[in-house]
Amino acid sequence: MVKTALSAIPSVDKLLGTNTAADLVAEYGRPLTLEAIRRTLAEIREQLKDQAETIPDSSEMLQRAREILVSWTTPTLLPAINATGVVLHTNLGRAPLSEESIQAMHAIAQGYSTLEYDIIKGKRGSRYTHAEKTLLRLTGAEGALVVNNNASALLLVLTALARRRKVVISRTQLIEIGGGFRIPDVLKQSGAKLVEIGTTNRVHLRDYENALAENKIALLMRAHRSNFRMEGFTSEPSLEELSALSREAEIPFLDDLGSGSFIDTAQFDLKHEMTVQESLSAGADLVCFSGDKLLGGPQAGIIVGRDDLIAKLKKHPLARAIRADKLALAGLTTTLMHYLKDEAERKIPIWQMISTPTEKLAHRANVWMKTLGRGSSIKGETAVGGGSLPGETLPTHLFVLKVRKPEKFLKHLREASPPIIARLRDNLVMLDPRTVLPEQEEDLIVGLQSALATKAGSRLD
Ligand SMILES: *Cc1c(COP(=O)(O)O)cnc(C)c1O
Repeated sequence: MVKTALSAIPSVDKLLGTNTAADLVAEYGRPLTLEAIRRTLAEIREQLKDQAETIPDSSEMLQRAREILVSWTTPTLLPAINATGVVLHTNLGRAPLSEESIQAMHAIAQGYSTLEYDIIKGKRGSRYTHAEKTLLRLTGAEGALVVNNNASALLLVLTALARRRKVVISRTQLIEIGGGFRIPDVLKQSGAKLVEIGTTNRVHLRDYENALAENKIALLMRAHRSNFRMEGFTSEPSLEELSALSREAEIPFLDDLGSGSFIDTAQFDLKHEMTVQESLSAGADLVCFSGDKLLGGPQAGIIVGRDDLIAKLKKHPLARAIRADKLALAGLTTTLMHYLKDEAERKIPIWQMISTPTEKLAHRANVWMKTLGRGSSIKGETAVGGGSLPGETLPTHLFVLKVRKPEKFLKHLREASPPIIARLRDNLVMLDPRTVLPEQEEDLIVGLQSALATKAGSRLD
């Protein structure tokens, strides 16, 4: 029966006493269910004030409460299918991890661990030891330190070594990396003073020489131009020249590599990206880079280099605030082991993707075409992304769909479970098989099928 008076709205207790509410309590817990029921009743009262609405019956009220509960408890951080053709997509979580890295993280997550416990001595140990040994073996560096991410690694180095003093950096490298992360801002935050040298397009060795002659210079730094290319009338001294200069002036030289690869990208027909080992052997005193870019591991910031400098960093209070978590350390150590065992290309997903031959990608695009009975395949390009190899691409074969409403179709794909992220070019929907993990292919097909069955996905005749 439909009533209109406010007084006819049932009490919270009455609704809570129903069987439906009991189910909600079992699924969402009593406090949250109570809050959702209260919210529902308040909304109904509000609506009654505004207009002469009728009061819904109690089962409809509980249905509204359920919808509120669903919206409060549905996670927003979801696994997704990356069909964008950007291998290291920062918005999509950068590097997928190797199977063994995932297993290592799982094992550590499940229980207690030797995170800061020395099992030989039977007493307190250090979380720094785990990745350190492997990093030293891999890079030949004297010291290593893992922190939360590369941005914090940079902040630590600048704070611990250059606070209230000056850091020399070229104007060719005063970069913004993305998400508003700017090198000059990090410098300011650290309390170090920036000494800009050179011009936007050119910096000479004598610019560095002049700057290093000033007082209170604590650090010479170089930052990798991660997301753009300089072309035309440009020049910068080599890393060797810079490190020789810094050695002479007895001022430490920091190289922020950004991505930090351990293997030569040139073997995949990409531009050669300076490796961590190369930066160290060119003479950098400290090199910092990310764990989840070209390394292909979990989020982390890695600093390798001179032992005395690393020791200072470890002792600084900021190191505690930005320390790496145990799951990241477990994943990172396992990922590093793949490099040590020369199996990175086979075991680390980003290298598997980067090294997949185009014929194999063409084959996958063709299989999708046959399975769906729609679409075509064209040659295209995959970007590496994630602040590495700016402008460099790998040849690929894209799966292309011509649909009635491309924007709406993309939205349907995003709302699939798991969400599928594709891209649009010239009004065509494009999916790059290179960045779709093979184990996600089934979900991809299901998601595509249902989006194609919508009006937006219908054929464009
Ligand atoms: C990506 C990048 C950073 C930041 O690294 P995160 O691990 O994302 O914090 C710093 N410097 C350079 C040059 C980069 O490319």
